[in-house]
Amino acid sequence: MAAEKKHKRRKALSLYEPGVTSYRSLARKLNVSESTIRRWVDPVSREKHLASSRRAKQARTGICADCGGPTRYNGHSRKEPLSFRCAACHLARHNSPEALAERTVWSREKIIEAIQRWGAEHDDSPRTTDFNGAPDYPSLTTVIKYFGTWNNAIEAAGFEPRLPTDRLLAAGERKKGEDH
Ligand SMILES: [Zn+2]
Repeated sequence: MAAEKKHKRRKALSLYEPGVTSYRSLARKLNVSESTIRRWVDPVSREKHLASSRRAKQARTGICADCGGPTRYNGHSRKEPLSFRCAACHLARHNSPEALAERTVWSREKIIEAIQRWGAEHDDSPRTTDFNGAPDYPSLTTVIKYFGTWNNAIEAAGFEPRLPTDRLLAAGERKKGEDH
């Protein structure tokens, strides 16, 4: 609870006289809602509130997608639908080789290396779309961030720059293929 709320709660408890003070007047005085006042000064509604928040947390637990064990409410599930992995599995994934590869810190040298690796594997330089979702390759955004344009990177890796028509021709060929 924030310090200001704590202060207000103490104040409400000191001002409240059962049967004399109304929730509404206290709510106005402390600039909080009537239900908040009720929760603070009435033990029964406080207990109800705690029980309902316990139930809400319980409802946000689930079964781990990886190990089938129980997942616990993690305090962030309003943003995510449910915590669908237990803490141990989440950590294991976070530190897996795949996850580490995804967090590769790119540099000009590493991007050039990746383009050359693609070139050796495919006997051609990569198109802008070839790295889409390919693990171990930088995204188009990353390439542009380091080289300004895709072709700058292609040239830096020792390939002929790709012509814009490449893409149009490829699209045309695909279209022809579909027609037959
Ligand atoms: Zn698990």
